[in-house]
Amino acid sequence: MELEGVLAELRESFESGRTRSLSWRQSQLRALSDILHKEEEDIFRALKADLGKHKTEAYRDEVGATIKSLNHALENVKRWMAPTKVGVPMVAFPTSAEVVPEPLGVVLIFSSWNIPIGLSLEPLIGAISAGNAVLLKPSELAPASSNFLANNVSKYLDNKAIKVIGGGPDVGEQLLEHKWDKIFFTGSPRVGRIVMTAAAKHLTPVVLELGGKCPAIFDSLSSSRERKMAVERVVGGKWGPCCGQACIAIDYMLVEDKFAPILVDLLKETIRKFFVKPDYISRVVNKQNFERLSNLLKDPSVAASIVHGGSLDSEKLFIEPTILIDPPLDAEIMTEEIFGPLLPIITLKKIEESIQFIRARPKPLVVYAFTNDEKLKRQIIAETSSGTVAFNDAIIQYLLETIPFGGVGQSGFGHYHGKFSFDVFSHSKAVVRRTFLTEFSFRNPPWNERKLQLLRSIYHFDYFQFLLYFLGFK
Ligand code: NAD
Repeated sequence: MELEGVLAELRESFESGRTRSLSWRQSQLRALSDILHKEEEDIFRALKADLGKHKTEAYRDEVGATIKSLNHALENVKRWMAPTKVGVPMVAFPTSAEVVPEPLGVVLIFSSWNIPIGLSLEPLIGAISAGNAVLLKPSELAPASSNFLANNVSKYLDNKAIKVIGGGPDVGEQLLEHKWDKIFFTGSPRVGRIVMTAAAKHLTPVVLELGGKCPAIFDSLSSSRERKMAVERVVGGKWGPCCGQACIAIDYMLVEDKFAPILVDLLKETIRKFFVKPDYISRVVNKQNFERLSNLLKDPSVAASIVHGGSLDSEKLFIEPTILIDPPLDAEIMTEEIFGPLLPIITLKKIEESIQFIRARPKPLVVYAFTNDEKLKRQIIAETSSGTVAFNDAIIQYLLETIPFGGVGQSGFGHYHGKFSFDVFSHSKAVVRRTFLTEFSFRNPPWNERKLQLLRSIYHFDYFQFLLYFLGFK
């Protein structure tokens, strides 16, 4: 079907009103859940083909995480949809007011290739819960996952109201020529700018879920048990999700110089313990990204800073978990998002210097810190800016429906997950109801001093004064 036809069908479905009903929303969420349960093996196959992802990792980061979100949405969608009564000030008496969530219309979702199922379905859950018609454009760089979504969304869901379109930048650009009621974009800052520029033409609101360099501050931690656990979480947070090809993966670490050798030893030990088989870690998505990552290591001063790993297999698109100590700060590995299995460690004299280090760079999606120092924690929260701050673990924040997921500054804007996903795809319509019970004539001319005093007292919430003026005692 031509793009115009696709858009017309989506618009018609939305205008028919059926996507607004609770039963439609619930049925579509259940159908999504069916896809994840019944087609799990196909999802595993697609993720293996696209990224060499192990099925356990695929379940943890994509299938399981999405089922969890779906269950949460199914449990709460009725409550989210309900109008919320709100208080009104005395000046508006007799009035009642409520906030009524309303679907936006036909929305466009762009997703990235690194968590190709999860990052397509997670926003889709929000768009459906909020009662919209949706066009989903997954990334062409994860073709098996993209095909899986196209085939199964059309098979299981209302395929006149929810559609998937394949294709690369050319298709993306065509889509951006059209008017949408919202564009939800997950991807790079470079394409984010293209999306926002195109959206401006139609005054289309956008959400940009972008990437960046997420730092992990690693304080020395006093107990060896905690150190070990923290390092395991760092290894999980760096190489765990798609071998570092994740927006919330740890990009680099900040550590006191005297502690760096101990940290490197612990990291090496944990890497050996975790990745005992080659397929326990994903591969680089494609040749282009493999070249990009290899080139980061080619700079001689960067190569000289490698203390672990560094071997590359261009046939298998595999890069060994690689640790570097103090690569030059102006090298590309320290100025651009790495999005791969390379981990620079930057050494500092004092761990508190990490705050200035982070502040001097674009605002990241996440600041991680492994520490028990409450003063340092307070400083990090107060003095750095990021989408999220996470202490003593990495990635786990993605699973919390109760906190917003999104960036700030260079890492994007707008947020989702749980109720935030519902809100991001809804318009909060204000509804005000008055009755004809009475009228405060002091709000209308002809003006006199008493009316001014009445207005003054009611705007200042001085109801006693108001009563005195109103009853003529003053
Ligand atoms: P990308 O920006 O290259 O692509 C994202 C989407 O945009 C894809 O669907 C792609 O087909 C489309 N696209 C590409 N060029 C386009 C164009 N010219 N016009 C219109 N559409 C176009 O990003 P990617 O390589 O898929 O993902 C990697 C980036 O995404 C990293 O920067 C990463 O940090 C970020 N990311 C962010 C999050 C998050 O939740 N914040 C999650 C995953 C990835």
